[in-house]
Amino acid sequence: MKKNYEVAIIGTGPSGAFAAYNLAKKGISTVVIDKETLPRYKICGGGLVYRGRKMLDFDIDEILEGQFNQVDIFVKDKDVHFSPERDLPVISMVMRDSFDELLVKKAQEFGAELLQNSEVKSIENGVLKFANSELEIEAKIIVIADGALSPVSKLAGFKDDRLLIPALEYEIEVPKEDFEKLSKSVRFDIDAAPFGYGWCFPKNNHLSVGVGVLKTKAKVKLKDYCETYMKDLGINTIISESAHGFVIPITPRTDLVKDNCFVIGDAAGFADPIVAEGISNALLSGKIIAEAIAEGNSEVEKTKEVYLQKVNERLIPELKIGIKLAKFFYENTSIRNLFLKKLGPLAAERLTEVFLGNATYPSDYKKKLQEKLKMTFSWM
Ligand SMILES: Cc1cc2nc3c(=O)[nH]c(=O)nc-3n(C[C@H](O)[C@H](O)[C@H](O)COP(=O)(O)OP(=O)(O)OC[C@H]3O[C@@H](n4cnc5c(N)ncnc54)[C@H](O)[C@@H]3O)c2cc1C
Repeated sequence: MKKNYEVAIIGTGPSGAFAAYNLAKKGISTVVIDKETLPRYKICGGGLVYRGRKMLDFDIDEILEGQFNQVDIFVKDKDVHFSPERDLPVISMVMRDSFDELLVKKAQEFGAELLQNSEVKSIENGVLKFANSELEIEAKIIVIADGALSPVSKLAGFKDDRLLIPALEYEIEVPKEDFEKLSKSVRFDIDAAPFGYGWCFPKNNHLSVGVGVLKTKAKVKLKDYCETYMKDLGINTIISESAHGFVIPITPRTDLVKDNCFVIGDAAGFADPIVAEGISNALLSGKIIAEAIAEGNSEVEKTKEVYLQKVNERLIPELKIGIKLAKFFYENTSIRNLFLKKLGPLAAERLTEVFLGNATYPSDYKKKLQEKLKMTFSWM
């Protein structure tokens, strides 16, 4: 059996689900497809920064596992701690099974169709075929939102030049007194792993604790780093745990469109290169592709022109600055620590503004850094 839609989206993560929501809202016939059945676990810290949350024009209270107006940032083995605070939830806590399912439900309310338990196995001349059924789907536009490994972009013949970094996360249940202590704040610990950081994100009844290394060629002993990090947090007893390792793409692909296929979210390499936070740019790219399809009347050439123009304006510049800044931040730790000791509060405030969506990373960071250090040490 063959079914036709204007748009077929592969992936019900935040990029695909939010693309479906925005397309369905515009009355564009859309199917969103996933190999899993919702709700499904997704390896993720579930830290939703406000720049992502504020894009959602519906209530997400029912699935929230916490929200934090203050962020705690520590640097391992250094006497450095920043706690920027705002009147808004800088970071909200979600579990991705219920968050992603909610986004899909919102898309369905506007008429998007959901096809679950359907793994895309081939794309030929704009027709999708599946692993476990005879069904075929034909669409004018195909949106590939299938995450970091993005098997479907390979099937579609995309060249892959994204940089993928490793991350490991533990979902842990700890004794009540440890949970009481650690559930009061959302924290990042720079250098909990070399070239990276650790995070401790409190959920309703457990902690999501993990480490990420923002460099692929680093010697990666994520399990060791994560266990040491948990000890550093004061966690000596774990009641239950599940460990999940995965990758996060932190540089964008050169090719974002091929024939009638468009990549978004992790499949495109849109996660933030400094903190590897990927949900907000996944949502943003979902919104942008929906705008492009609507403005392009689902015609491939026009949609391509609008999509590339919008991502090149609203997404890629910040990623490019982030890539350079991340290199400086994680690879020049002595200068960075000197800088953080003197001017860390300013940097933490700027990062908070980025999380809120009020600012981007500074493009002239090297010049600013030199000026600030000169001013700070001029009295010495
Ligand atoms: C350990 C770890 C911690 C992280 N923590 C955070 C965090 O705290 N905050 C944050 O913002 N980001 C975090 N990220 C990054 C974030 O998880 C991703 O950037 C985000 O999930 C990207 O969303 P997406 O929609 O592009 O893809 P995904 O969420 O990966 O969704 C892809 C979907 O495609 C489906 N799919 C795949 N292949 C097929 C196929 N062949 N056919 C049909 N369906 C298919 C999958 O089942 C999946 O549902 C973390 C990542 C990791 C690995």
